[in-house]
Amino acid sequence: MMLSGDCRSDSLGHCSKYGSYTIIEERLNKVIDVQLVQSSEVPNSSWCELERLKRSIRPFSDNDMSVDVLVTDRNRQVAKWVREQLGPQGTRHFYDVWHCGKGNILIQSGCEDLVLWRQSIVNHLWTAASTPDANPHLMEAKWKSLVNHAQDIHKHGTQGFPSCLHPPLVGQDRNKQWLVPGSGAAVKLEQVACQPMFVKDVRQLSPQHQTHSVEAFHSLILKFAPKHTGFSYLGMYTKLLLAALHYNSNGNRDMARTKAGVDRYAARYPRFKKGGWSVQPVKDKLTYGKSPVTAPVPPLLLPAGSSPEREPHLAAAAVLRLPISNQPSPRA
Ligand SMILES: [Zn+2]
Repeated sequence: MMLSGDCRSDSLGHCSKYGSYTIIEERLNKVIDVQLVQSSEVPNSSWCELERLKRSIRPFSDNDMSVDVLVTDRNRQVAKWVREQLGPQGTRHFYDVWHCGKGNILIQSGCEDLVLWRQSIVNHLWTAASTPDANPHLMEAKWKSLVNHAQDIHKHGTQGFPSCLHPPLVGQDRNKQWLVPGSGAAVKLEQVACQPMFVKDVRQLSPQHQTHSVEAFHSLILKFAPKHTGFSYLGMYTKLLLAALHYNSNGNRDMARTKAGVDRYAARYPRFKKGGWSVQPVKDKLTYGKSPVTAPVPPLLLPAGSSPEREPHLAAAAVLRLPISNQPSPRA
């Protein structure tokens, strides 16, 4: 399995009452596990993410299902646990590129001399990650070449990545704010880009799957459980399962077509592009039909003595094919 996972706080601020963790199988684009943990169940909020991930992974381990790839953010506790517990079983742990860039002070600091290079630095991080075999040495060499490239030096003399991949720069392509070798900006760029801890993370960037789909699912949860509304544990857990059913039913919709059978596209103006736009395919309409939860539930998947009417969260879990024995108990 190739899994991506990320956590989400179910209320604003650091004192969140609940935290959830979502696991998506990337090749299927299906939510295959959601966990809800109360903050009071763990020593402090920073342990929440690790605890939620452990609960998500446990059913796979218990059923001898191997996790080939796991993509997460750069949480240190999670990284240590995956390395020690899942690494020996062959799991490869990668970091989501967006999360990695988000935590890089070079990108976030707004260092004045480097402002013009900000987008290039972000792009370069994605370029470093685009290494099909996830060769960490090549990823590191690609990333560090940024320091030379920004100084108009495109031969690096490093094994595996001796020169930039772009063609020779001529005409308009040379019209850039190149950094002067030895200048404060060039030194700053090298200091921050080559920080050992960050370079170590770059070597572990995910070359293929990211956590985009988990982020999309977390946005969807807001439609089922707005953050400004308080829910009981069972209420919140049920909302998560409903959101998972909706996502799994609609996550892989076909492209919409005109009556003449032509694929439809539309211009979108996402907020993060700050007025910019992009052309994206239009998908078929969302399905809001009969909920699968109301469909007959395979009796063998429900614990003895329970019923879909009395324990809807168990019924939902059964339809999702989640291991019921590992589901948290509903709280009053
Ligand atoms: Zn270059």
